[in-house]
Amino acid sequence: MIDATGYTYCHEHLHIDLSPQKHAIDCRLDQYELLCDEMREVQKRGVRNIVEVTNSFMGRNPQFIEDLIDDTGINVLLSTGFYIEGFFPDEIYSMSASQIAQGMIREIEDGLEGSRLKASVIGEIGSSEDHFSPTEQKVFQAAAIAHLETGRPISTHQSMSTMGKQQIELLKKSGVEMTSVTIGHCDLRDNFDHILWMLDQGCYVQFDTIGKNSYYPDSKRAASIALLCQRGYEKQIMLSMDITRRSHLKANGGLGFSYLIDEFVPLLKQHGVNDLQISTLLQSNPTRLFG
Ligand SMILES: [Zn+2]
Repeated sequence: MIDATGYTYCHEHLHIDLSPQKHAIDCRLDQYELLCDEMREVQKRGVRNIVEVTNSFMGRNPQFIEDLIDDTGINVLLSTGFYIEGFFPDEIYSMSASQIAQGMIREIEDGLEGSRLKASVIGEIGSSEDHFSPTEQKVFQAAAIAHLETGRPISTHQSMSTMGKQQIELLKKSGVEMTSVTIGHCDLRDNFDHILWMLDQGCYVQFDTIGKNSYYPDSKRAASIALLCQRGYEKQIMLSMDITRRSHLKANGGLGFSYLIDEFVPLLKQHGVNDLQISTLLQSNPTRLFG
């Protein structure tokens, strides 16, 4: 569960392996000592929790996370679910939503195979770019069943900030309260009206690819967050970096996890976001949702 005394990064990966699908060894994030160093550094800056949204077919490694927790003291929330087309196991295509849900419920209630840890988030479950495939929709239905049974929150993945509206509509239709849902990757393109629509449904929205300036500049992320705070939406916004590659780590020439606190928070302040609003985004909101 969340440690309410510090900040939370709402969407990260501490062990992930998408290298088979992406044909690049850089996409295997598994450098234990470097990740330990990064976790020690963020804790010096007030970060207490990492929501780790890697699920089983993305290279999740509960034993690795267990060691990281023991060696650095960081608190990590783990996830259960299935990602998007291209990353689904074959068997999922022939399973029903309720069969898929049973596996999620087992990982939440009984724990993750090979470790003492349990999943406490249903995520990251997603849709393809501009398309929500039937199997992706089936996973969302399963997530809704698992959520209604366990009460655990649902964390989603939008490809290039698309299809959030369809994700919300499906979850609503499946009986999920929007206060238990957070929509991921809202910050990869200009889509302010889409974000406003999602916020008005009552869910959380994530600015969770902070630092990925090649996709979308942080100056625009900061300007959008400032405007949303001015309009009174600060209680529904959370922050993260979605680090997934070896080259994202500081020792490998990347920005590293501390960038969010060291560089992006000051940028938010320059745009007029105040200290109370920053602690709302990084502390109160994740505590409320992931409690
Ligand atoms: Zn992710």
